[in-house]
Amino acid sequence: MAEAGAASWAPADEEGDECLREYRHLLSPDILSGQVAFITGGGSGIGFRIAEIFMRHGCRTVIASRSQQRVAEASKKLVAATGQQCLPLSLDVRQPPTIVSAVEEALKEFKRIDILVNGAAGNFLCPASALSFNAFKTVIDIDTIGTFNTSKVLFEKYFRDHGGVIVNITATLSYRGQALQVHAGAAKAAIDAMTRHLAVEWGPNNVRVNSLAPGPISGTEGYRRLGGKFAEKSSLFATIPLQRAGNKTEIAHSTLYLASPLSSYVTGTTLVVDGGSWLTSANNFAAMLDFWAAGTNAN
Ligand code: NAP
Repeated sequence: MAEAGAASWAPADEEGDECLREYRHLLSPDILSGQVAFITGGGSGIGFRIAEIFMRHGCRTVIASRSQQRVAEASKKLVAATGQQCLPLSLDVRQPPTIVSAVEEALKEFKRIDILVNGAAGNFLCPASALSFNAFKTVIDIDTIGTFNTSKVLFEKYFRDHGGVIVNITATLSYRGQALQVHAGAAKAAIDAMTRHLAVEWGPNNVRVNSLAPGPISGTEGYRRLGGKFAEKSSLFATIPLQRAGNKTEIAHSTLYLASPLSSYVTGTTLVVDGGSWLTSANNFAAMLDFWAAGTNAN
């Protein structure tokens, strides 16, 4: 195997919800200068790193999720590492009044919101036959309906009159019918459809809407729950064209591209950031069932 070229070198990352110890800018540090981003799920995992990378590029952020404690702690770390402002707010994306309150508070504080990242989601492995009606509905409620609720509130409160950018964090699960993932696959596929519908309807208001679909991303709750460590140990990632899992900084960099003026003519599309994973990775129902039955999906 050839030595990896610079084109596929992974940038530095930290395992947990900690800021990067060092960071080398690949883009201009002021590419988001003066802007404000509203990031649901910004208190942990991929959303946390997106907030950090945006802030390292001049952006102020609002990070919002159900747990006020989670976003408050995350905000302290982000402010300390980047010197930018970060407003932590509690909301439940299934409850539109909580979104309205949070967006109003953010606008009171910053007077503007330029970017919305819909990152809030819930997921777990479960075969369709064992999935309760309620579990399926809950994932659709958080991922799909939550994305619509938040996008609609932002549009009505600010983007309709001022323009804006929406990035929906989705997944590649539905592309090949990933085993044990009917709930999340269906929820994220619906968001990708929503991306195209809203890009068409809101383009005339100068609103760009895109999806970003990560592959397996290390150092995240999703990775832990969906068997990333197991795949690592079993050398399953050798089947990925780029031969490894991605990291949170890589997802944040691609989100930065979609949120910034670098992608000024990009709307209604899904950017897959997975090292080519969905094209080649095993979708082995029997092996996934064994893994699930052994109860190892919590490690
Ligand atoms: P994570 O850390 O668990 O992030 C999910 C976030 O959503 C949490 O901060 C959670 O905070 C928030 N949240 C959950 N329910 C909510 C609700 N009802 N209202 C508001 N916020 C809510 O997971 P992650 O693995 O980094 O995933 C981030 C995004 O990337 C998700 O959209 C996920 O589907 C996507 N993704 C991840 C991977 C991966 O490998 N990790 C792969 C493909 C796609 P609270 O508990 O405080 O509400």
